[in-house]
Amino acid sequence: MHELAICQSLLREVERTATANGATQVSAITVAIGALSGVEALLLARAFTVARSGTLAAHAELEIQAVPIQVWCRSCAAQTPATVNALLCGRCGTWQVELRSGDELLLMRVTLTTDAEPAAAVC
Ligand SMILES: [Zn+2]
Repeated sequence: MHELAICQSLLREVERTATANGATQVSAITVAIGALSGVEALLLARAFTVARSGTLAAHAELEIQAVPIQVWCRSCAAQTPATVNALLCGRCGTWQVELRSGDELLLMRVTLTTDAEPAAAVC
């Protein structure tokens, strides 16, 4: 399962951040998923509940943020939003555009718990 492998690699990164900050637990994880990343938010959330067990993030909440698609136009140099089915310039309508965002899968934020107070680490 594609999403499970993604979760496992996310969790490795999360655990590295947690360990580097001396955290005993991870309480929340925020990831950003682009509409063109090929990752289904629902499947990722389900895979996360499996992948997190036995890690520092075993009780962590997963927050998923959707990243909108943005394209940059080679003809008129405008940067405009686009949709999955129509990667076109929003100003002049050409298809000669470059993707500026929408295909990413990013770890945005990890909320850590140390023995003292909860602390947030920005990745
Ligand atoms: Zn254009």
